[in-house]
Amino acid sequence: MIDALEIQVTKVAKSKLNDLNLENIPFGKYFTDHMLEAEYADGEWKTVEIKPYQPLTLDPSTSVLHYGQAIFEGIKAYKNDNGEPFIFRPYDNFKRFNKSAVRMNMPEVPEEIFIEGMRQLIDIESDWIPALKEHSMYIRPFMISTDAMLGVKPSETYKFLVILSPGGPYYAQPMKIAVEEQYTRAAPGGVGFSKNAGNYGGSMRAATDAKAQGYDQVLWTDAVEHKWLQEVGMMNVFFVIDNVVVTPSLEEGTILEGVTRATAITLMKEAGYKVEERRVNIDELVEAYKAGKFTETFGTGTAAVIAPIRELKYKDFVMEFDINNFKISPEVKATLASIREGKTADTHNWLFKI
Ligand code: PMP
Repeated sequence: MIDALEIQVTKVAKSKLNDLNLENIPFGKYFTDHMLEAEYADGEWKTVEIKPYQPLTLDPSTSVLHYGQAIFEGIKAYKNDNGEPFIFRPYDNFKRFNKSAVRMNMPEVPEEIFIEGMRQLIDIESDWIPALKEHSMYIRPFMISTDAMLGVKPSETYKFLVILSPGGPYYAQPMKIAVEEQYTRAAPGGVGFSKNAGNYGGSMRAATDAKAQGYDQVLWTDAVEHKWLQEVGMMNVFFVIDNVVVTPSLEEGTILEGVTRATAITLMKEAGYKVEERRVNIDELVEAYKAGKFTETFGTGTAAVIAPIRELKYKDFVMEFDINNFKISPEVKATLASIREGKTADTHNWLFKI
């Protein structure tokens, strides 16, 4: 329970849940009965409410619509094989959210609002978490600036909200990826490490152009040479070279610090694999591929968890992979599923019980 701020709860008269079949429900399309909304003004968080899911009313001059102070998170809640609900690693998302807030000149959200508010909301909505294999409930915390006034400056008022969307299994299709050489997602000193809305708006042109060429997504590269690898679409990326797992390091601040990335690194190390977080250059991959040493590559993220890459194109050079021979990523995926289902011990305390 929070001491400083009491959460007011107003419930719907009738749940929408009875009208919905949760089996194989599409991602991000349906939302639960309630949402959490907190208001920030005068330098402090004032009110926290759980209330019926409803539209926001915003003045057309509202700051976020013009200057883009907007950040968000993506987290999943599941039920284990005993039907007990839990959230996967919410504290990691909480910390990342506040890093994004600081970078975007927005107020940090205290733990008793982010974590405890989310916990209470999910407790109320726990019937919405499908008790079906590979199903989950996607949690979307976000914050927007709400000053109704034009003029570029940090807003003085904000709204923090949490909405929930139940979802079916996300079958990670093997991806065809093109190495991006024209557009840039992030540069040192920029906002690449933060989960702000503009990063996603800025990525869509490249993804759409890649799709027109028959690719699912792009592999982002550095702003100067377009050779140093960052991430693949909205996932972190891993390469297996000579049986060593390599993933781009985070130091430059150009990559989102993925929670699934951290989870995969831990599980791979525990399984005895050598994992290197370091700078990786596309030329190194091409050479390793030609020498038959680059054998596996995949993306990680909350939505798909682990998605194998079946084709990687750099200029005119196409690297193809037989995903049926992938060894490490299916192993990580299975171990993680087993932890979530409650079959393998949760030794890292990743499962936060509701
Ligand atoms: N990179 C980007 C740009 C993303 O949007 C995401 C999804 N949050 C990820 C990586 C993967 O992060 P996570 O494992 O925390 O979902």
